[in-house]
Amino acid sequence: SVVTRFAPSPTGYLHIGGARTALFNWLYARRFGGRMLLRIEDTDRERSTQGAIDAILDGMRWLGLDWDGDVIYQYARAERHREAAMSLLDSGNAYRCYATPEELTAMREAARAEGRPLRYDGRWRDRDPSDAPAGVKPVIRLRAPTEGETVVEDAVQGRVVWQNKDLDDLVLLRSDGNPTYMLAVVVDDHDMGVTQVIRGDDHLTNAARQRQIFDALGWEAPAMAHIPLIHGADGAKLSKRHGALGVDAYRDLGYLPAALRNYLVRLGWSHGDQEVFSTEEMVAAFDLKAIGRSPARFDFAKLENLNGLYIRGAADADLVQAIADVLPALGPSRGIPVPMAPDLRDRLNAAMPGLKERAKTLVELLDSAYYLTAMRPLVLDEKAKGLLGDEARARLAALLPALEALPDWDAAATEGAVRHFAEANGLKLGQIAQPLRAALTGRATSPPVFDVMAVLGRAECLGRLHDQIP
Ligand code: GLU
Repeated sequence: SVVTRFAPSPTGYLHIGGARTALFNWLYARRFGGRMLLRIEDTDRERSTQGAIDAILDGMRWLGLDWDGDVIYQYARAERHREAAMSLLDSGNAYRCYATPEELTAMREAARAEGRPLRYDGRWRDRDPSDAPAGVKPVIRLRAPTEGETVVEDAVQGRVVWQNKDLDDLVLLRSDGNPTYMLAVVVDDHDMGVTQVIRGDDHLTNAARQRQIFDALGWEAPAMAHIPLIHGADGAKLSKRHGALGVDAYRDLGYLPAALRNYLVRLGWSHGDQEVFSTEEMVAAFDLKAIGRSPARFDFAKLENLNGLYIRGAADADLVQAIADVLPALGPSRGIPVPMAPDLRDRLNAAMPGLKERAKTLVELLDSAYYLTAMRPLVLDEKAKGLLGDEARARLAALLPALEALPDWDAAATEGAVRHFAEANGLKLGQIAQPLRAALTGRATSPPVFDVMAVLGRAECLGRLHDQIP
């Protein structure tokens, strides 16, 4: 049965390209009732960090990409990788190379002078190890074929062919006994029973190298799919400016995991013209054939629109919870206590039907709920200040007793009182409702003001009005 794997190197956050690779592997496994494994490629001890591992696992959990079985840590398997190198030595498919650093430098300089890539010249391939210079610790190199071709049949790239004379004898084990990345990947993919590799096409040349190692070990290589990298909207390689952020940054910018998943699946994969996919639909439709061969372009506006769609479609309570989840990132700069207070939770819930119609992100949602999260006295924005001139404040003062006298406090009651006040004073409704909104929300726009009053409740409303009355 199908086994895929996501194999990130924990040297930084889970970036958007990695998240897409993880999603594709997840979808492919789910589509075919298989398993997706997670392998942390932490062999680079200097650059791998626990923080990065945590960020990757958190990011995957947040995106809803669950993996099967335990996380596999590549470095913990180094002994097994060494074993494989030794077996290649025994079978004659690898050899010890005693070339000194000076010799290798000379080779590199010669290559540079001739403007060609460095190619180890195989000088220890057939040399008797008894010639070994004293004090040089050997590396172990693959005895790669020198004639013929290495072919990778790739589900996305098609048939890709390398001339073996262009591929040199790569290092499997370093002189300190540490396995190279190239060997580790092959041994792990084999031992994990991986049937399908899906990864960025920056690994395409590695696929040829790895294919040679698979062949030398007499193992069957998994099927390959190398997906084009993501580019920015301008076609240039993706950078921070374009959205090459960590998945955690998208969470803090207020995107919903379902929306990001939907956005990512369409980055390089298509299913007719369909743009919006439920998770079930993605799983049912996903296949490798429909992955394009040219780089997908990252488009923030499209992600925002999709996110707005998911926000409008989400249950109110789920949105309140999503805001509560990002509050540690968003709350402090807005003066909102973390964790979310129960009464704020209730008010957000009550106001959510009106709020969610307008917002494209949770950040916008939270900011449009300023009137619910704010502490008295409110900080008015410029437009709200403009609505609260002396005359307007005097009008609010005149309205106040009618509101204070209301026996019930709901949208119908406050609306009745305000309309009555307007008529009695020869005012249009807006002439009193607008200052009322400004005083209660600190903004010139908000959900319908009588709904706002109902959600805020009598005491808070009257308090806020008093704050604005001379
Ligand atoms: N560790 C590699 C990376 O993060 C991926 C290797 C692979 O998928 O084979 O780019």
